[in-house]
Amino acid sequence: MQPPERPKKEWTLKSAVEQLESCDYHAIAGSLIWNDAFIWIKYEASLDVVCPFCGEGEFDKIGLKLHLERGHCDEYREVDVPCRHT
Ligand SMILES: [Zn+2]
Repeated sequence: MQPPERPKKEWTLKSAVEQLESCDYHAIAGSLIWNDAFIWIKYEASLDVVCPFCGEGEFDKIGLKLHLERGHCDEYREVDVPCRHT
């Protein structure tokens, strides 16, 4: 049997990890929570950095940097930094 082509739900890493954890899957080697790949995914999912300017969320560090540097954040663009003359 083939799995469905597209998931019905819009997943995030975080919601997917929560869903997998709630199912308490077991593999041959033991519980899913001890699986190296799952541990890595859990770590990635925990990187939900919120933009300090606009409050948008669920970035990792690179995502936040792109959000700011590529001009996707209106609040960030509107912050004026006065020039310092010494
Ligand atoms: Zn922002």
